[in-house]
Amino acid sequence: MSELDAVRRAAELALAYASGADDRRVAPEPAAVDALSALGGELPDDGADVTATLELLAEVGGAATIVNTGPDFYGFVTGATLPAALGAAMITAAWDQNAALPVMSPVAAALHDVTRAWLVDLLGLSAETEIAYVTGATVANATCLAAARDALLAGVGWVAPTQGLFGAPAIQVVTGQQAHSTVRKSLGFVGLGSERIVRVPSDDQGRMRADLLPDLGPADGPILVCAQAGEVNTGAFDPFDDIAEWTEARGGWLHVDGAFGLWALADPTRAHLTAGLRRADSFATDGHKWLNVTYDCGIALVRRPGALRRTFASVAGYLPPETGFEAMHHTPQSSQRARQIEVWAVLRTLGRSGIAALVQQGCDGAVAIAERLAVTDGFEILNEVVLNQVLVRFRDGDTTGRLIAAVQDDGRIWCGPTTWRGETAMRISVSSWKTTIGDATRAADVIVELAASLD
Ligand SMILES: *Cc1c(COP(=O)(O)O)cnc(C)c1O
Repeated sequence: MSELDAVRRAAELALAYASGADDRRVAPEPAAVDALSALGGELPDDGADVTATLELLAEVGGAATIVNTGPDFYGFVTGATLPAALGAAMITAAWDQNAALPVMSPVAAALHDVTRAWLVDLLGLSAETEIAYVTGATVANATCLAAARDALLAGVGWVAPTQGLFGAPAIQVVTGQQAHSTVRKSLGFVGLGSERIVRVPSDDQGRMRADLLPDLGPADGPILVCAQAGEVNTGAFDPFDDIAEWTEARGGWLHVDGAFGLWALADPTRAHLTAGLRRADSFATDGHKWLNVTYDCGIALVRRPGALRRTFASVAGYLPPETGFEAMHHTPQSSQRARQIEVWAVLRTLGRSGIAALVQQGCDGAVAIAERLAVTDGFEILNEVVLNQVLVRFRDGDTTGRLIAAVQDDGRIWCGPTTWRGETAMRISVSSWKTTIGDATRAADVIVELAASLD
């Protein structure tokens, strides 16, 4: 028996899970969640058989998963896993590469460069844009904001990485009212403060009202603006041309949170949403949402060469090497997973047209759901369905909350709640590569059926 027999068995079990995902309940039965106690208990004194342990994990753990790899998960904005990504993830796990430095993984270094060039091309960004892989869009936001902070302070003669922020000139941070919670969190932990920001009011779709940008001038200090491509409830895009105009006139830095929405740049049919978006200085996005790779994969994209390095080089006076991108000197991390390998596999297998089709499929699914619900008594679609998000209320906030609970209980599909204008609403996000128009229509039918059964 080879020491890898247990791994072969694990691979079989993993594939059995993946191929059965479409037929499972989306949310596990409560009994399956209770059964997780079989994985706990006291720390064993002695080891256990590897095959038996992995079988236990697959059986007990697998039954208590939320099945977001199938077509029926509409919660948050999570995305599933494309087969190319899953396969690449399995190969990558076997390789156990550390992507910190080219010398630690030539393949990771090469695929960093390939995916950088491909993403810049696909999204139509300036050729000099640098990218860095991090754990998700939260950290991608923070990575960009830290680079922005340091670049803006360098512009007024302050070297933040060495001098810190105590006594530094104040940066004026401007966000929309509906900036994602993780942007505020990131502003907090990069030292810019989650509350000492100017919040620009939003319109009824959550778009920043560029006409209400504050009256700030050169005397107010460096300016950092955070805009948004894809409001997490409505999918709305900020008016980037106006915001960029305002920011550029003040020598500021414009950052865009595009955790899922940035991918609209890859779909020519969404060009009306993305006008001016490419003028931003930095962007945060996720691979693990709409690109449908596994967790954890966020991407920071920065249009100012050297800015990431000036913030994250862990060697004073560090200059980039002649050969290769050193990830540990461009990100908050040192050792890191080679996230670019799955991104490469997806870009290579889908190509430009496939990524555009993936985005369109999500948008078409959202329209199908909205159209079906809109003609049913009691349902109100609260957003303009411009992307993959549908925001809906059934009668009132309380009834909507009960409907969401019924949907989650039923198990055929899954969607979650949000608060919109002070009341509960149901948020439906179509971001799995598996969700066809037929699936989306069926999901709307399930929602209508369960709504009819509420008293
Ligand atoms: C999901 C999301 C984030 C946070 O991304 P993580 O990958 O969960 O860290 C930030 N902004 C928006 C708009 C999002 O949808």
